[in-house]
Amino acid sequence: MEIKRSGSQPSRKGQAENFTGNVRIDPLVDAPTPARVFSVKVTFEPGARTAWHTHALGQTLIVTAGCGRIQHWGGPIKEIRPGDVVWIAPDEKHWHGATSTTAMTHIAIIEKSEENFTSWMEKVSEEQYQGE
Ligand code: MN
Repeated sequence: MEIKRSGSQPSRKGQAENFTGNVRIDPLVDAPTPARVFSVKVTFEPGARTAWHTHALGQTLIVTAGCGRIQHWGGPIKEIRPGDVVWIAPDEKHWHGATSTTAMTHIAIIEKSEENFTSWMEKVSEEQYQGE
């Protein structure tokens, strides 16, 4: 058994090629094999969001603070709030982030696979983000 103490895992910045705006990532879980679970807490400042992407084995998001937006390719933008739990299917193209005026924090949980377990695509344009 291992207890990772609060404050022992440094925060990092979301990589500019995969995110728009200011994003902070706080590591939670990177389980050793044969376990595959990988989890981070992600905080998006207002206007910040991921690029379009997919997860090979799907993803669960648990919103813990603020107000956010999420959209799958071809679908409507939906608002997400604290307590909401979102399941994103394997290979479903999507993005998630804050609203334009309010920050949002979620816990993201994925399972690691052999290859690329997250595949990053193009940025979410301002028009796409605003749902225009
Ligand atoms: Mn995702």
